[in-house]
Amino acid sequence: MRKIAILGSTGSIGTQTLEIVREQNDICVTALAAGGNIDLLEKQIREFQPKVAAVWEEEKAKELKLRTADLDLKICFGMEGLIEVSTEPEAEILVTAIVGMLGIRPTIAAMEAGKHIALANKETLVTAGHIIMPLAKERNVSILPVDSEHSAIFQSLQGEEGNAVHKILLTASGGPFRGKTTDELLHIRPEDALKHPNWTMGRKITIDSATLVNKGLEVMEAKWLFGVEADQIQVVVHPQSVIHSAVEFEDGAVIAQLGTPDMRLPIQYALYYPKRRRLRGKRLDLFALASLTFEEPDRKTFRGLDLAFWAMKKGGNMPTVFNAANEKAVALFLKQKISFPDIPEIIEECMDSIRFFEDPDVSCILETEEDVYQYIESRW
Ligand code: NDP
Repeated sequence: MRKIAILGSTGSIGTQTLEIVREQNDICVTALAAGGNIDLLEKQIREFQPKVAAVWEEEKAKELKLRTADLDLKICFGMEGLIEVSTEPEAEILVTAIVGMLGIRPTIAAMEAGKHIALANKETLVTAGHIIMPLAKERNVSILPVDSEHSAIFQSLQGEEGNAVHKILLTASGGPFRGKTTDELLHIRPEDALKHPNWTMGRKITIDSATLVNKGLEVMEAKWLFGVEADQIQVVVHPQSVIHSAVEFEDGAVIAQLGTPDMRLPIQYALYYPKRRRLRGKRLDLFALASLTFEEPDRKTFRGLDLAFWAMKKGGNMPTVFNAANEKAVALFLKQKISFPDIPEIIEECMDSIRFFEDPDVSCILETEEDVYQYIESRW
């Protein structure tokens, strides 16, 4: 029986991970961490019976303790709690399904404790890939991608050891505003941006998909996961989200992974890798698909993508500046304090203004995040 721990069990990826656990019935959940949704966390605790559970705030931890007094369960909180969940001794795989750079320290702690990582929390790789990837090698742990595009690339690379990758074709749906002009984007409201055409996801990543910042983060994630350079990654807008990404090899062969848009597939693949298991749900029907289409991303209107390429080429703490500025800008947009096109403007201004460090350690990454937050708070 596989044993797993989950960070962010109450979110979109977290709940879908637990759906798989429920369906497959041969995975043991040893630890769960959530932010503040203790109603759902309590239900999950009662159903999956972990040994450890964590929430972010001490007050919520106290309340959860009262509610679960009948159970044999350790409850913790804060960063210490996240690390406790990540390093729960029996778990073999940690599913990192929390949002943001909060994932860096617990992911490192889990790897140091010898856990494999099923990685959804892309912000960790984007900002600390230069620390995470060598550590994975040193500790002999796997980083199993959960993001659908990276899982597709990972699946396309199976059996290709020793064959050099020429190019990665990273597909993008284009988001809900594909085809719109900058002027039209000025009037976008949060509720419009929260409607993704193909995927149901958490709020932050849904906005990131609409700005193409998510694709930018994925480009950086791909660089670290697959050891490729910026000019080897081509973003291809494919509105139907059927080809989840592809790899072009040196002989021109292109291997892709296709399927209906369903995050449970990449999550399950990461949990059971290299085995495939039956998964209930809609299957791809090629006859029902009218056509598959492809186009270049509109880099002029959706500037987040080029800013990400720029941050990736610059390296150091620049991806952290990009990511932190985006997180804060998205939060401001959701509070209706800024417009949709302000998001890349704010990212760019931070990239021009925050102090650059060539080889940041974890403290420097987290200080950069704080500097970006303060910079934005002082201006917007
Ligand atoms: P959600 O917003 O749906 O879920 C976030 C989870 O993180 C929730 O469980 C939330 O808990 C928890 N959380 C938030 N703050 C804290 C905190 N301070 N301490 C502990 N837990 C916290 O996000 P998603 O599931 O959409 O995304 C998770 C990650 O996966 C992101 O990095 C995203 O980019 C990535 N990803 C997501 C995909 C998707 O389809 N959703 C696809 C590919 C990648 P609570 O709700 O209890 O506050």
